[in-house]
Amino acid sequence: MSSLLTVGSVAFDAIETPFGKTDKIVGGAATYIGLSSSYFTKDQKIISVVGDDFPAETIQFLESKGIDTEGLQIKKGEKSFFWSGKYHNDMNSRDTLVTELNVLENFDPTIPASYQGVDYLMLGNLAPTVQRQVIERLDVRPKLIALDTMNFWMDIMMDELKKTIKLIDVLIINDEEARQLSGEYSLKVAAKKIIEMGPKYLIIKKGEHGALLFHGEGIFFAPALPLEVVFDPTGAGDTFAGGFMGYLTKTDDVSFENMKRAIIAGSAMASFTVEKFGTDRIENLNEDEIYNRILQFVDLVDFSIDKK
Ligand code: AMP
Repeated sequence: MSSLLTVGSVAFDAIETPFGKTDKIVGGAATYIGLSSSYFTKDQKIISVVGDDFPAETIQFLESKGIDTEGLQIKKGEKSFFWSGKYHNDMNSRDTLVTELNVLENFDPTIPASYQGVDYLMLGNLAPTVQRQVIERLDVRPKLIALDTMNFWMDIMMDELKKTIKLIDVLIINDEEARQLSGEYSLKVAAKKIIEMGPKYLIIKKGEHGALLFHGEGIFFAPALPLEVVFDPTGAGDTFAGGFMGYLTKTDDVSFENMKRAIIAGSAMASFTVEKFGTDRIENLNEDEIYNRILQFVDLVDFSIDKK
């Protein structure tokens, strides 16, 4: 059985959408990724850092999902990362209101001995310097390294980010970030430029408009499922990444063909996240629900046409 190491923020979020507002709730990239991939692999490890204000029950809950938290540092007397965002009426775009790095400011990731030799690595949203340290501190390069990032890091650490993405296989970003990283408006041209920066595969997420996978001359498109309820898109991107990497870890096949299936798995997982606030909807899913969602994607894009 293959194993997955997830790195990323474990955090408190405060979210405002047109449907309501939350006080501090548990969020963070690694939280969403970890929960999402837990439905595909039971051999998952996490590297992150929180303050001693972070609820012990949440850590226990992650453990109960088969996530090894030995690499989750708890810093005494320090505060956890805090992020706050507000969605626009279209729910497709948002403004970051607050980013308090707190424990992330001086995070020095340590790799427990039992994590060495991990097969797959998902570098979730975090400082690109820390993402790179994790790659460098692993004794053996994983079979596949995927990385997610965001405009925040591009604004303050673009050069570090470019150094880190040279070392990875799959970059997962949204359309705005692809434009910022490449300086190009056309996503096709942007993809070409980004792939020249290092990653062999590029996934561009387009929120409710689905996701594109680029590899060499190949392009694959996965729609997002049209949903009746879109309540809170926070974590959709991370949940997508978790489903994608969880599926690859489970099937242990990194071909372009299998990545297409992994993208559908990721899109199916993300479609759950947005239905409720925070991680609520992805805390207790069952296999049938997930499989049925995946089948809805198959139906959504299934058509035949007479060939000339
Ligand atoms: P997503 O909606 O998938 O882009 O991810 C939202 C999650 O990313 C939230 O739970 C935040 O805690 C986390 N997040 C936001 N900004 C950052 C950042 N600069 N570094 C790490 N994680 C972040």
